[in-house]
Amino acid sequence: MKAMRLRETTSLSQNPTPLLYKDMPEPKIGSGEVLIRVTRCGVCHTELDEIEGRMKLHLPIVLGHQVVGVLESDAQRQAVALQRGQRVGVAWIASACGKCPHCLAGDENLCAEFKATGRDIDGGYAEYMKVRADFVHPIPDSFSDSEAAPLLCAGAIGYRSLRLTNLQDGQSLGLMGFGGSNHLVLKLAKYKFPKSNIFVFSRNVEEREFALSLGAAWAGTIDQSPPEALDSVIDTTPVWGPVMAAMKCLRPGGRLVVNAIRKEENDKDVLLKMDYPSQLWMEKEIKSVANVTRADVREFLQIAVKANIKPEFQEYELKDANHALVEMKQGKIRGSKVLRM
Ligand SMILES: [Zn+2]
Ligand SMILES: [Zn+2]
Repeated sequence: MKAMRLRETTSLSQNPTPLLYKDMPEPKIGSGEVLIRVTRCGVCHTELDEIEGRMKLHLPIVLGHQVVGVLESDAQRQAVALQRGQRVGVAWIASACGKCPHCLAGDENLCAEFKATGRDIDGGYAEYMKVRADFVHPIPDSFSDSEAAPLLCAGAIGYRSLRLTNLQDGQSLGLMGFGGSNHLVLKLAKYKFPKSNIFVFSRNVEEREFALSLGAAWAGTIDQSPPEALDSVIDTTPVWGPVMAAMKCLRPGGRLVVNAIRKEENDKDVLLKMDYPSQLWMEKEIKSVANVTRADVREFLQIAVKANIKPEFQEYELKDANHALVEMKQGKIRGSKVLRM
């Protein structure tokens, strides 16, 4: 099979082709695993963190954790029978122990043995992948493969982020950054909280226009003030400036949810300028969101059907994955990027 494989971590600005297009043997499945013929795989900002060495990973590795494909064999997933030929997806969560207090409480995303697709096991930048049968998700018929792929990470983690804000209908929501995840959060929030106004912050004028076209009440740059104070904010940017800006915009008791697996180091010193009275006092909170659970993925897919949430996407050939990643690094994003096998 063909795959795009990462051999070593590197800086994407110095090395624009970190992934090698390679012939590899098809994965051999063990007991409880399924083989998937991959048709699409979404490209995520997390892949930049992996390539540039901001997280531990098992090298060499096939990246990709928004995988859509077809089952090559029958399988049993708990009580549910999965059939050969069925369309399924694989998300960031590839396995968890199932026995620890986090797993038993439904927080398998926090499990110490959490394994991630495309980080701890080979992912979907390939023609085939294998995974535990109980960690695949049937894809609803109303989505095409390319529409489904971005829902599996950006959508599911966006859903989790929105849940962690504790937003009530009518309360105001801010979105810092407007890439793959937050454009889905905007659609989701408009469905779940029709009385809420949504305020979008982005450095990119096209993204601001895109946000307004999707129904944002306001769109501005990160140093602009929105017309009202915000009950909660979701930050999906890779840097620290937006965290400082968001804390200034929050109402008393407001909460910032940081949806970023890693933050870059470049502008970290802005944190030293934090003004306690205006940015943290009055019971303002900062909470991060980590990983996703299988329930997040499945609940979000069901809501996405009802709310008719379909991501905007751009397709690339598998062998052009490096090009898609460089564009993402440069901030050339409109909707989500999807690889086609
Ligand atoms: Zn992702
Ligand atoms: Zn566990």
